[in-house]
Amino acid sequence: MSRPTATPVQVDTNRLPLLLGELRVPAISRFWPEIAERSDREGWPAVRFLATLAEMEVAERVRRRHERHLAEAHLPPDKTLENFDFDHVPMLSRARVAALAAGDAWLSKGENLLLFGPPGSGKTHISAAIGRALIEAGYRVLFTRTTDLVQRLQTARQELTLEAAITKLDRYDLLMLDDFAYVRKDQDETSVLFELIGKRYERRSMLITANQPFADWNKIFPDPAMTIATVDRLVHHALILELNVQSYRQKAATTRKNRATIKSVNQKAAAQVAEQPLATQIPLASDNLARQSSPQAQPNHHPD
Ligand code: ADP
Ligand code: MG
Repeated sequence: MSRPTATPVQVDTNRLPLLLGELRVPAISRFWPEIAERSDREGWPAVRFLATLAEMEVAERVRRRHERHLAEAHLPPDKTLENFDFDHVPMLSRARVAALAAGDAWLSKGENLLLFGPPGSGKTHISAAIGRALIEAGYRVLFTRTTDLVQRLQTARQELTLEAAITKLDRYDLLMLDDFAYVRKDQDETSVLFELIGKRYERRSMLITANQPFADWNKIFPDPAMTIATVDRLVHHALILELNVQSYRQKAATTRKNRATIKSVNQKAAAQVAEQPLATQIPLASDNLARQSSPQAQPNHHPD
């Protein structure tokens, strides 16, 4: 690069805000007066001043990129690894999920993650949580109900832009298709799914959730050959996790019900105790001794 023409003598410092605006460096534009003031006060070397501002700009860019990635991912809100109860799914190792949430190996190889389990077993929650962690780690993900994506791609096909729409999805390191087996479409529509899977095969990762492992996938693809080819591509490089557990919602409801029952039993017992004469509520040690030592002594039962 040849040296720019402006020499230190020619520099008009009053133009600095304008120049920074032109350079599109919002963090430097905002913070330079404060940092310059501190730098002058503390006698920083010029390089430290410049490096401080550069660091601030980079940090701001990372923050904004992260925000953008989070917004574009359309993750269901509030589903995180922190609020996922691993005790409910003993077959799901916390360490394995942590490794998946770090991305690295599987995403770089375009491997897939298939999550199966009955409704309410936590598939959507754990997927969204992994997606959120991946964004934290710098990846780009898209979470979508499979039916929504099929519709989008179908529209693209009608507009003769299917190829471009599928290529556009390449920007995502991970495409998360929730409720895969809910798709029940005619040949035309499901073939867009087939094309998408074919395009990503061995290049870009997919995460798929479904209630049943493959059993009713014939209903998605009317052509059995298409079903076989799809399953084949998806599982070729895939980790399959089966969450064979009771619905978390039902468990939570049962726990609430049990708690309510225990509470009402306790309340009933408390009411009964309150009705009893004081002497029967607090058995005195001497009473027990008396009963033990005297066979005639009868325990003082309160009628139920
Ligand atoms: P699925 O997608 O398998 O049908 P969801 O992930 O939608 O199930 O889970 C249903 C509800 O139960 C959601 O509100 C989810 O946050 C919650 N849930 C499921 N499993 C867990 C879990 N292990 N820990 C905490 N919440 C859970
Ligand atoms: Mg779900």
